[in-house]
Amino acid sequence: MQRLLGTSPAHTDAADLAYTDPLTGLGNGRRFFDKIERLIDDRAEDPAPFAVGILDLDGFKPINDLFGRGAGDEILQQVAMRLRAAMDGQATVARVGADEFAFLYPLVFSEDAVCEKARMLIEILSAPYDVGERTARLSASAGCSLFYSGEDTTDLLVSKAETALYHAKRSGRGRVAVYTREMEEAAKRVTRIEQALRRAVSAGEVEPHFQPIVDLRGRRVIGFETLARWTDRDLGSVSPGVFIPIAEERGIIGPLSQLVLRKATEAARDWPSDMFLSFNLSPSQLVDHNTGLHILSILRRTGFDPRRLEIEITETGLMTDPASAEKIVADLRSVGIRVALDDFGTGQSSLGRLRDFHFDKLKIDRAFVASILEDRPSEHIIRAILAMCEGLGMDVVAEGIEAEAQADKLIAFGCGGGQGFLFGRPHDAETTLRFLRDSLAAPLRKAG
Ligand code: C2E
Ligand code: MG
Ligand code: MG
Repeated sequence: MQRLLGTSPAHTDAADLAYTDPLTGLGNGRRFFDKIERLIDDRAEDPAPFAVGILDLDGFKPINDLFGRGAGDEILQQVAMRLRAAMDGQATVARVGADEFAFLYPLVFSEDAVCEKARMLIEILSAPYDVGERTARLSASAGCSLFYSGEDTTDLLVSKAETALYHAKRSGRGRVAVYTREMEEAAKRVTRIEQALRRAVSAGEVEPHFQPIVDLRGRRVIGFETLARWTDRDLGSVSPGVFIPIAEERGIIGPLSQLVLRKATEAARDWPSDMFLSFNLSPSQLVDHNTGLHILSILRRTGFDPRRLEIEITETGLMTDPASAEKIVADLRSVGIRVALDDFGTGQSSLGRLRDFHFDKLKIDRAFVASILEDRPSEHIIRAILAMCEGLGMDVVAEGIEAEAQADKLIAFGCGGGQGFLFGRPHDAETTLRFLRDSLAAPLRKAG
């Protein structure tokens, strides 16, 4: 340590502390930057590359909440110990954020080699952690970058590793990525969309569109799913498949969702009173304890009956922080809001979850519906899902129905509800209201 800090007699224990993370005893961010700086100086005459990386624990926060802060600290100490033990002679590891660690490999010269190292670290961290009587499991993601020339400064190297980490995290848990220029471009595009979206949300420019959900047998519209739509002056129309994940990631999903729900409930007040409104909640909203309060306060303000509202959530949303999701779902159900499990069959479907959580409805993902005509396995899966829902007393809606033959088959299997382009595409509030007024199948009985 003394060597690292230099030999100046001015160095004291206090200076030492300034470079050490008190919880884990590893070096801190300052020490890490310092080390890179020195290595860059050393390599001024020597063209050999070296590698840095940032490692971020996936889903540490829910573990912290679940096991308690003390246990969280203990896990971080164990993580630090494992990482330190994995460093060979020249390599260093530091703790640079709450659940972020950084490593420096002076003798790693290629992208493949640093990937290999990072994968090994992730592997080491994936073994279970003892926390008192219990064990916890963690995964981690890593982003790496290589120093190739004197043009790379410490800041640049670290920021490249961060860009790569961001990329790794976006593509799932437990991944490793090495910085490329394309990542930088992609990250810039995301930031552009984020900024435009922030502006649009504060200007109230995201609109709800509504797609009909029908009773399959009678072909009667029984409700609508709200789907957010956004057209930006410069970017044009941006699909929710793009802007919703960005809104989640950058913390805009709360205000965006509140805006869309307010507009949607205002529109749905004018629909026949037996028609429900369905609304998607993002996984990150099921981690935020204020979500329930926000929804209820919007319903109160717009005067929309909570018993006409249905919330769609996905399995991913339940996995991130099951305890918090359960609390939010229970709060919503206690005022009569119905809860649907969306996109069933695509994620890490767990039947256990269907037992622990009570859902009012299950939506079969359109991937199954799309292949129902050609593919025997899909057919069997749909039949099994339908039988299960019947047993559990859940309603079912098959998503993405585009052809009559698909609808016929689903009816023959006993599927009650359907949604898809065959019955109608999503339309704005005005068009939806006009459709309802004109529709003979659903004569308009205006609510209160
Ligand atoms: P989702 O909730 O599964 O919504 C159904 C998606 O399938 C919609 O895509 C809809 O337009 C599309 N779809 C419906 N019928 C058909 C069909 O017959 N064929 C095909 N090929 N597609 C069909 P969209 O509007 O692009 O939305 C994508 C996803 O974005 C939604 O998937 C939902 O997860 C999310 N999303 C949309 N609006 C919101 C929102 O307000 N809040 C949140 N949190 N997520 C939203
Ligand atoms: Mg949905
Ligand atoms: Mg869906």
